[in-house]
Amino acid sequence: GGSFAAAALLAACTAERTADYYGDVSGGEGALIGVSMPTKNLERWSRDGENLKRLLEDLGYTVELQFADNKVEQQNSQIQTMINKSPAVIVVGSIDGSALGPVLQSAAGLGIKIIAYDRLIRDTEAVDYYVTFDNYNVGAMQGQYIVDALDLENASGPFNFEPFAGSPDDNNARFFFEGAWDVLSPYIESGKLVCPSGKMPSSVDDWQSIGIQAWSNTTAQSEMENRLNSFYSSTTRVDVVLSPNDAIALGVGQALASAGYNDDNWPVLTGQDADQANVANIVKGRQSMTVFKDTRLLGERCATMVDQIARGQEVEVNDTESYDNGQLVVPSYLLDPVTVDADNVQEVLVDSGYYTAAEVGL
Ligand code: BGC
Repeated sequence: GGSFAAAALLAACTAERTADYYGDVSGGEGALIGVSMPTKNLERWSRDGENLKRLLEDLGYTVELQFADNKVEQQNSQIQTMINKSPAVIVVGSIDGSALGPVLQSAAGLGIKIIAYDRLIRDTEAVDYYVTFDNYNVGAMQGQYIVDALDLENASGPFNFEPFAGSPDDNNARFFFEGAWDVLSPYIESGKLVCPSGKMPSSVDDWQSIGIQAWSNTTAQSEMENRLNSFYSSTTRVDVVLSPNDAIALGVGQALASAGYNDDNWPVLTGQDADQANVANIVKGRQSMTVFKDTRLLGERCATMVDQIARGQEVEVNDTESYDNGQLVVPSYLLDPVTVDADNVQEVLVDSGYYTAAEVGL
């Protein structure tokens, strides 16, 4: 009996010490939180990073924010440097979702919790939570926009269609493509959508064949230039481009502009992120839509998760089946993306204070 009592007492003390310790955190002593973002060069990630830092600091935490210049090695060593400072939590927007296993394993060994931010971290048990937008739905919204814009239900077509996918190493890119593909493939099969360049994956599993490495707008531009030069002419025009995000849409748009596309024949062009230049293009009629993922909401949800972890509270999630990372199904919180086009730019992006009217040319 004695050893049982001793064990119980020890457990009680430990629990109390934990509560006290986290009590200090909530009291504003400021546990350290590491935030590792993929790059500063894409507008959304610098917004994400700065926003999350500010939210966490407002909650009393000390934040170490790093951007990794889209280089896997750099992200690995930045996370290692964070680990050496013993943070309570590390938030990671990964570059290559499969390249962080060993460094995160060592964090987990030290009791540091890991939150995958926006992009799932794959093939390791060392990820505790995932916070993101519903990635499959982002693609489905792009696909549905195309169906509606071309009235694919009723129109007979055929429409010349050029698909693009995101970076082959980004787990999200598959979800985006799959969501769009599931909506569009009936019209591909019925011949209403045709692809003159032949750059149409044979199945959804083949999405990486049209992936744009590192989501680079310049790579997307030259890919689109190649397709336009080789397969299009003044009589064969592209009617619709599936672009998975705004960076790629920007590159595609530049290729279209230099090939002479104009107000009369600008194709349906999708996007994602509501980057400032793209929203301005939507206002000008040079991009049809973007999928807005409000970084303010993602930041708030992530900050809540960090805070719940640090206080030893139950962490709120709303999805426990969608994101199997190869080792475990990561408990996730999924937020809802919103379709933005010329009709609701004002309401969704300006009235909500995300941009001023002047910033997007309204
Ligand atoms: C994000 C997108 C972003 C893309 C390129 C994806 O993982 O979910 O919002 O456009 O990466 O950075």
